[in-house]
Amino acid sequence: MAKCSICGKPAVVDLRYARRRFCAEHFIEFVERKIERSIKEYKMIGKRDRVIAAISGGKDSATLAGVLDRLRDRIGFELILLHIDLGISEYSRKSREASVRLAHRLGLELVIFDVKEMLGYSIPEMALRLRRRACSVCGIVKRYVMNAAGIELGADSVATGHNADDIGSYALKEFLFQNLENIGKLVPVSESIDNLAVRKIKPLYTVYEKESFLYSLLRELPYYHEECPHARLDSLDFTIKEFLNKLEEKFPSIKIQYVKMLARKGSNYPKIVEARSCRHCGLLSLGGECSFCRITRRLRKSPAGPMVRRYFSTLRNHS
Ligand code: SF4
Ligand code: ZN
Ligand code: ZN
Repeated sequence: MAKCSICGKPAVVDLRYARRRFCAEHFIEFVERKIERSIKEYKMIGKRDRVIAAISGGKDSATLAGVLDRLRDRIGFELILLHIDLGISEYSRKSREASVRLAHRLGLELVIFDVKEMLGYSIPEMALRLRRRACSVCGIVKRYVMNAAGIELGADSVATGHNADDIGSYALKEFLFQNLENIGKLVPVSESIDNLAVRKIKPLYTVYEKESFLYSLLRELPYYHEECPHARLDSLDFTIKEFLNKLEEKFPSIKIQYVKMLARKGSNYPKIVEARSCRHCGLLSLGGECSFCRITRRLRKSPAGPMVRRYFSTLRNHS
């Protein structure tokens, strides 16, 4: 039986790309060290920072919250969890439950933003009325809520659970369509823009999806394992991920080399230059009205950005 490269106990995982095998305890330690190294190397979190970790209820969120929780005393930062309930039937109910259990298990504060309760429509209802794909509406809502929460709750950064597989596949997809300005956003840290956009960090930048899954499993962290019903297995994103997996099989560690290169060179890609403030809510927009205010104005006759900002600022005043 294969043995752990560190202690010689039976190994539970063989990491070909790292040429190492680990028992459960040393695998957990390996993932935590790897994330801590990325946090330091890319200067993601500083002492006394306030960090909001956006959690969906899935395995990557569990890993993100679980590791940040263990690092918060060592580095000395404050950690708050944010969950956005998208109102997507059973999937959202179970994801919310998992997020509540995760926060409880780690003893962390959890802020929940319920899309249906706050905006009057769930994501599928909004998509239907706007005649757009659920994922496109969902992306606009999630990005806006995370940014508004970050700004209003006074966060130094908002952390998301994107892993190396996610980042590599998004970057390749954007490259295929030559959306080069979107590739530049896939770096480990996107700096804040005045009071328009909060700083965003990706602590799982060099963690493989499989490692993230195994970490949350071995630590028995609560997470919901089903995919969102709107995620399509025949989508381009899925096929690109499969392609990268094939590459990795043949050339172990190529995914990590690829995302590390992206971290170094990502800032060379063109940027969207003119960042303006939305005339309704005052947050980041490209044309004077942000996408969130535009879609909610179409749905509800008045833009919902200011109301969302007020919601989070009230939470801050009560905390
Ligand atoms: Fe949102 Fe689409 Fe992801 Fe579902 S699959 S959570 S709708 S972005
Ligand atoms: Zn061991
Ligand atoms: Zn706005």
